[in-house]
Amino acid sequence: MPLDRMIEKAYDLVQKRRVEQVGEGVYNVVGNHGTYIVAKKIDGTISCSCPGFIRRGRCSHSLAVLLTQKPDLLRSIERQINKPPERKRSRRERA
Ligand SMILES: [Zn+2]
Repeated sequence: MPLDRMIEKAYDLVQKRRVEQVGEGVYNVVGNHGTYIVAKKIDGTISCSCPGFIRRGRCSHSLAVLLTQKPDLLRSIERQINKPPERKRSRRERA
């Protein structure tokens, strides 16, 4: 999954309140294919129980947890996503 897409997905998870803290540094994240457990370690690293994280070391769930803790980052992503689409140039040419 491209990083952009992953960020968008993580943002979506936060917006839909699918991130729930269940303990000290432990979160339940309800993804599209199941509920995963995201754990934040004392050193700040985050791990997730989903197959994507195990394979690639990153996923939208762990990113979503990170976003819930960084409101500034969340806002800047929000701006990116809700940016009005660029206006296309008119193809019509004047004769
Ligand atoms: Zn995950």
